[in-house]
Amino acid sequence: MSVYDPTPQMEAIMAVPTMQEIKDALRLVSDNPSYRTRISRDVAKERGLKRFFTGSECVNGHVADRLVSNGNCVDCYYMRPNYARQKHSSS
Ligand SMILES: [Zn+2]
Repeated sequence: MSVYDPTPQMEAIMAVPTMQEIKDALRLVSDNPSYRTRISRDVAKERGLKRFFTGSECVNGHVADRLVSNGNCVDCYYMRPNYARQKHSSS
C-alpha cells in the first residue's frame, strides 16, 4: 500500500476547467450571430460548404446562415409551411 494514493475524486477536481476555458467552450457552441465567423458565399463554395454567413439580415430580419445553393436564409427555409409538412409526411 502506498502512502499517497490520489483518489479519482481528487483528479477530477484538478481537471476542473478554468472560467476562460468554459467561456471558450460556450463561445464555440453558441448560436449567437455576433460570435459567428463570417464567410462569403464564394469562399463557402470554394471550401465545399453548404452554408455561408454574412452577418446581414435577410428580408425577414433573420441574422442566420444562408444556403450556398440558392442564397436563401436558413431560418426562412426551415420556417416555410411546406417544410413542416414534408418533415412529418411518411410514405
Ligand atoms: Zn430569413
